Amino acid sequence: MFTNKAYKFWFCTGSQDLYGDECLRKVADHSAKIVEALNASGKLPYEVVLKPTLISQASIRQTFNDANNDAECAGVITWMHTFSPAKMWILGLKEFKKPLCHLHTQFNEEIPYDTIDMDFMNENQSAHGDREYGHIVSRMGIERKIIVGHWSRESVQQKLADWMITAIGCIESSHIRVCRFGDNMNNVAVTEGDKVEAQIKFGWEIDHYCVNDVVEYVDAVSKGDVDALVDEYYSLYKVIDDGRDADEFRRHVAVQAQQEIGIEKFLVENNYQAVVTHFGMLGGLKQLPGLAIQRLMAKGYGFGAEGDWKVAAMVRLMKLMTAGKKDAKGSSLMEDYTYNLVAGKEGILQAHMMEVCPTVAEGDVSMRVTPLSMGNREDPARLVFTAKEGPAVATSLVDLGDRFRLLINAVDCKKVEKPMPKLPVGTAYWTPQPNFEDGCEAWILAGGAHHTAFSYDLTVEQMVDWANYMGIETAVIDKDTNLRQFKNELRWNAAAYRK
Ligand code: MN
Repeated sequence: MFTNKAYKFWFCTGSQDLYGDECLRKVADHSAKIVEALNASGKLPYEVVLKPTLISQASIRQTFNDANNDAECAGVITWMHTFSPAKMWILGLKEFKKPLCHLHTQFNEEIPYDTIDMDFMNENQSAHGDREYGHIVSRMGIERKIIVGHWSRESVQQKLADWMITAIGCIESSHIRVCRFGDNMNNVAVTEGDKVEAQIKFGWEIDHYCVNDVVEYVDAVSKGDVDALVDEYYSLYKVIDDGRDADEFRRHVAVQAQQEIGIEKFLVENNYQAVVTHFGMLGGLKQLPGLAIQRLMAKGYGFGAEGDWKVAAMVRLMKLMTAGKKDAKGSSLMEDYTYNLVAGKEGILQAHMMEVCPTVAEGDVSMRVTPLSMGNREDPARLVFTAKEGPAVATSLVDLGDRFRLLINAVDCKKVEKPMPKLPVGTAYWTPQPNFEDGCEAWILAGGAHHTAFSYDLTVEQMVDWANYMGIETAVIDKDTNLRQFKNELRWNAAAYRK
């Protein structure tokens, strides 16, 4: 159910009627060739649709408003083939509400040294026209992505592809609805936040229910449906029984299957795409949802633990942005748990009480039933695995009281040196960039949480672009982070984002 709509991106070329019909015919022809090549590249996750060349204020304004009103249009790519006086663009840009990309390219790759004349120069002047256009977008303070380079180049196409995914995150953010069962865990600061401001900034609807509202749905699930889902679990996952009786093990697993079906039915009927639980507020639930939540996350639902609705919405956002991505490595809630401080091997062991999404797993995914050290319920069943290696991003959206800050850390995921047979949870292990000490110091300095929304399939740049579009502060910790400079950035941000 969690595939994106068949989104499209409009390609709008700017020009003017000063150059005559022959020139405008070539402009349209060049634009068509570029769009055709972009769509044929296989690099772009969404289709590009060519629009007629824009040469007047009226047509520009009409096109941007049509883009606003077209449910399938997720953003507009603009390019000035010739000079297009930018006052013509003011009203259209002012009324435009979707993600904007400025593709600063040129039809010809090389200067045609032997034949170039003034006619050619007047026809191919992106260097000139794109500056006029860029000026007005900057003067109007409109957020946009600028991508520079020849349209045939793979790196340019990749940047466009990445931006499209960011644009989907911008468009889809306002469709995220988070269902909270109960409230945030008492006394915890970092999982709190201003839900009204979150709706204003991100469009998220954040509601709450009594946990027993979902218990009714769980209790109503038929035994046949539970048995069928348990059979599916046994066909997908290995069993690590820890010496438990096989029937007893299966009964514990069945509780989670019943929860998966019941919770999902509740979410679907009430139109929620993200969910929050709290181990201290389980009402009539027999177990803390573990395996059930892991499965729901793998299906594309967002999840936050202990009432953490910000992480639930961010995980859902990541699932939406990466939906349908080829060779995706996964996105999940994570939690900074335990350090390895051995020199040269420093890293953070990531896990949660149970709820780590199995999309990040590499190798076997196993089921285990073990006690929780917290709460007062049955031993819950959960999926156990270790996560993939490679670069990833860990993000933390924090509420600083007067504003949101999105903290984005580039991390390098690794395998732990040895198996951890007694640890019954899905885990990841990473070293934050630029290195363990500076990464952790910067994270703490910026007020980052212990819960993160994590993905292998998104980049720092994409998350920064998303946050910029949402109008919130970002703080990036990556290979270029210098602590003294980082501390100053936070100071400057406090001034720049003051209300
Ligand atoms: Mn937690």
